[in-house]
Amino acid sequence: MVELESSSQAAIELENRYGAHNYHPLPVVLSRGEGVYVWDVEGKKYYDFLSAYSAVNQGHCHPRIINALRSQAEKLTLTSRAFYSNVLGQYEKYITTYFGFDKVLPMNTGAEAVETALKICRKWGYEKKGVPENKGQIIVFDQNFHGRTTTIISFSGDMTAKKNFGPFTHGFNKIAYNDTEALQEALQNEHVVGVLVEPIQGEAGVNVPNEDFIHNVARLCKEYNALFIADEIQTGIARTGSMLAVCGNCTCSSKCERQSTYVRPDVLILGKALSGGVYPVSAVLADDTVMEVITPGTHGSTFGGNPLAGAVAMEALQVVLDERLMENARKLGELFRKRMDDFIKTTDLISMVRGKGLLNAIVINDHPDSSTAWDICMSLKDNGLLAKPTHGNIIRFAPPLVMTEDELHECCDIIERTIADFEKRS
Ligand SMILES: *Cc1c(COP(=O)(O)O)cnc(C)c1O
Repeated sequence: MVELESSSQAAIELENRYGAHNYHPLPVVLSRGEGVYVWDVEGKKYYDFLSAYSAVNQGHCHPRIINALRSQAEKLTLTSRAFYSNVLGQYEKYITTYFGFDKVLPMNTGAEAVETALKICRKWGYEKKGVPENKGQIIVFDQNFHGRTTTIISFSGDMTAKKNFGPFTHGFNKIAYNDTEALQEALQNEHVVGVLVEPIQGEAGVNVPNEDFIHNVARLCKEYNALFIADEIQTGIARTGSMLAVCGNCTCSSKCERQSTYVRPDVLILGKALSGGVYPVSAVLADDTVMEVITPGTHGSTFGGNPLAGAVAMEALQVVLDERLMENARKLGELFRKRMDDFIKTTDLISMVRGKGLLNAIVINDHPDSSTAWDICMSLKDNGLLAKPTHGNIIRFAPPLVMTEDELHECCDIIERTIADFEKRS
């Protein structure tokens, strides 16, 4: 194996010298992770409050998931879909039962799964709804984040993500988030085939819509015969205190006992924590009436549905249930927001805390272009807690869901102490 760089400075210099500069990381070089902790190359230990954008819900290097990876890796890793494997069917049965859908289409990254959902939705629109070919419209929302492919950035509002990457894909109508009236109006267009929505906008800074918004999306989609497509890549798999954020406050197990079809999406997109951060695994779930528009040759991926991915995803999903991560995320989330709400009364630096389960953010009381959120994250790093600003003056806090109550209190102590010190200095 290649000898790895042993100092932070050297590792950072290598990335700067040889890697494309498509990220601006916090200057910390990690070499090990376990549960809620990560360690840098100098051996300093940190609480991870990003969890790889909620991919590591089950905690770093979860022993059961690593075991599943290791034991499958020794048998068979990739066949391509030119042949069957003894894992894929079992995984497909497992995940469709788990989330209560007829069928799954397995992919690898989140953006690929979103692309897949958009393709399914368009094809459904032409073949089932009867929209004239090439006229289909998909409704999306301001400040959305769904990934980085050319089609997906076509309806992004983030100018940095778009500039000089055109020409863009047509057929998307972007409206205000959390605005039921705007949605109803947009749905008057009979060429609308679907609505693509994040139940909580993670990248936009943990924008939590009104309690009834997602219900209204589901209801209106049914009324106007458009597909309700939920992008739960960041919010799903116990992150917000229920198995899916579309479940609202329902905490029944993934095999939904209440059959609350009211908020059930027609198309569900998963990624990130589907593998516990061990391997890129994403999925699109839908019932037969929708998924049957996909026929041999219409879509595919060399790695999608490979045996390694299937084995890892089954174990990662089972860990979520066995360790009751939904309940823990819910309990710790309430505790976190309570502590931050109390703390806000003592400082002018934070204007609010918001979120659900363990997907939370604090809004820094400074203009969006200021470096305050970044500077606070640098101080948090010095004090042993890793978080990253999102959209200027917002800091997202999303630790692995395997955290204990004592650990969360210690983390709140670190956050409060860091911000109080920061305020004194500035
Ligand atoms: C991360 C994310 C994506 C993209 O996933 P990748 O694996 O980075 O392609 C899409 N949608 C949402 C809501 C996400 O958080």
